[in-house]
Amino acid sequence: MPETILVVEDEPSLQETLVYNLEKQGYTVEAVGDGRAALDSARRLKPDLIVLDIMLPELDGFEVTKILRREMTVPILMLTARDDEIDRVVGLEVGADDYLTKPFSMRELLARVKAQLRRTRLLRDEIEKTNSPDAAPPLETLSFNNLVIDQTRREVTLDGQVIPFKPQEYDLLLFFAQHKRQMLSREFILERVWGWEYVGDSRTVDVHVRWLRQKIEADPAAPVRIVTVRGGGYRFEG
Ligand code: CA
Repeated sequence: MPETILVVEDEPSLQETLVYNLEKQGYTVEAVGDGRAALDSARRLKPDLIVLDIMLPELDGFEVTKILRREMTVPILMLTARDDEIDRVVGLEVGADDYLTKPFSMRELLARVKAQLRRTRLLRDEIEKTNSPDAAPPLETLSFNNLVIDQTRREVTLDGQVIPFKPQEYDLLLFFAQHKRQMLSREFILERVWGWEYVGDSRTVDVHVRWLRQKIEADPAAPVRIVTVRGGGYRFEG
């Protein structure tokens, strides 16, 4: 069954271009032009992915994300136009899974869409496998003092409290945990965690590291778990 994508963009020509290109890839696409219609469509359609512009009539993309995040786990790819929007997406926990800065190429957009959908599919397969009667033995639990990663449940606890992690954040933390004390370059992390077809820049890694630090570091401004390595990378200290 083709995957369903909801496009939320109020600029008619861009909306049309997005729909045309996504449909050409074989996706089922529905498009709306304001935030309220986005909520209605998302609830009815239960799409596999939402491409969401931020500046929208009625409700903006931030509001839409905030509401949808309480209701569903659909991946959200945000389209940002202004620097102050990018700052909010990058710096705060707005709940987007990825973002693209306007203007962007269709090729880049399609690659990001594909990467997000692939991630969701892998996750779904993994859950199905875990729930099936002949499931493989439970995956290992990785512990680093008060930080515990339960690979079977894809759950992270800090001091015994479950910390909500988005799929990409979890994958990144797990990757760090599996490569403890190794210096990992941004490019290597991008390739291994996001996949080779991903055409993001290395700032994507920095953004996600910042989000991880806010969740697992006692003082995110002075990180001791995920440290920055001079010369271009990160190292997980445990
Ligand atoms: Ca707009």
